[in-house]
Amino acid sequence: MNPDRVISIFRDWGEPAYRGRQLIGEICKGIESYQEVTTLPQGLRDRLGREMPVLSFSPDRVLSSADGSCHKALVSLNKGARIETVLMSPKPGLWSACVSSQAGCALACSFCATGLMGFRKNLTAEEIADQVLFWRQYHRRSKLAGKITNVVYMGMGEPMLNFDAVKESVAWLTSPILYGMAQRSLSISTAGIVPGIDRLTRELGQVNLAVSLHAADDELRGRLVPINRAYPLDALKKALGRYFSKNNRKVFLEYVLLAQENDQTKHAQDLVRWIRRAGPIHLLHVNLIVWNPTATAHQATDRESARLFKEHLISRGIQVTIRKNLGQEIAGACGQLVVGRGTISKKPFNER
Ligand code: SF4
Repeated sequence: MNPDRVISIFRDWGEPAYRGRQLIGEICKGIESYQEVTTLPQGLRDRLGREMPVLSFSPDRVLSSADGSCHKALVSLNKGARIETVLMSPKPGLWSACVSSQAGCALACSFCATGLMGFRKNLTAEEIADQVLFWRQYHRRSKLAGKITNVVYMGMGEPMLNFDAVKESVAWLTSPILYGMAQRSLSISTAGIVPGIDRLTRELGQVNLAVSLHAADDELRGRLVPINRAYPLDALKKALGRYFSKNNRKVFLEYVLLAQENDQTKHAQDLVRWIRRAGPIHLLHVNLIVWNPTATAHQATDRESARLFKEHLISRGIQVTIRKNLGQEIAGACGQLVVGRGTISKKPFNER
């Protein structure tokens, strides 16, 4: 789906550039075989099929949750690494592709399965954007209701540590000759890489920003999200200040609730204090995520503690949502993506 590459291959083959653009437009709709692109001459379709695979990776398998609201694919990248990628439906008819930007992750957040893998490689822009293409193909083939309206960079890896490829993939997803999505329907999540937040502020101002906060105290956050030692809460707060000085847009603060660790009243009070200093409170929205089980030493907060935490924030004027744990049964929920070490899913799944 790299349009420059497709057009240059077409040029080398003596084909006009408009045919390359025509092809890209058709493929982005979720077509899986060049034979379906009947506007191209038969000979060209055959040659494309022989020489240019549609996807830049090979899907190995897809697991689906029993209610059909979450699908997770394991895919093999060209040079051997494998990743997981997710398609989920937070509301009937609306689908979000949750894409990985790295195979594994170096940041080792204490609750996250991907962190257990360590870092394997940065994905190319094509490998990132092709996850959306793969899910469009799957959505079409499986005749799922509705359409894929959003893309969230919340799969494996830290997007801000692969910013150039992420930015290029955003350009393709939003290009009118490719996917034609609005920047506002894309979200990038970071564990708090300050230079990355600054680049997003300058270069991708309309893409939604989510910051994985998880604690509003440096000592605790340093244990849960070790990158906090490089970019402590004060530096994060200043980066958000720079963001708000340029963008009057909402920022999402992700907060995973871990029993007895960061889910007590004191932690909610710390969070309220931090939010009040970090920016206009109407532009900061907290997403509470009850921890999804991984092979790490944590426990999920119980329902009542989660409710009390939420109520504390609401009573102080903070906007807050408890996120649905979509895909937990197929280990496709937040923090559960992993290949190899740390895999905990052994249940039988609906495999397609
Ligand atoms: S939570 Fe995100 S940044 Fe942290 S280890 Fe997992 S993938 Fe990496």
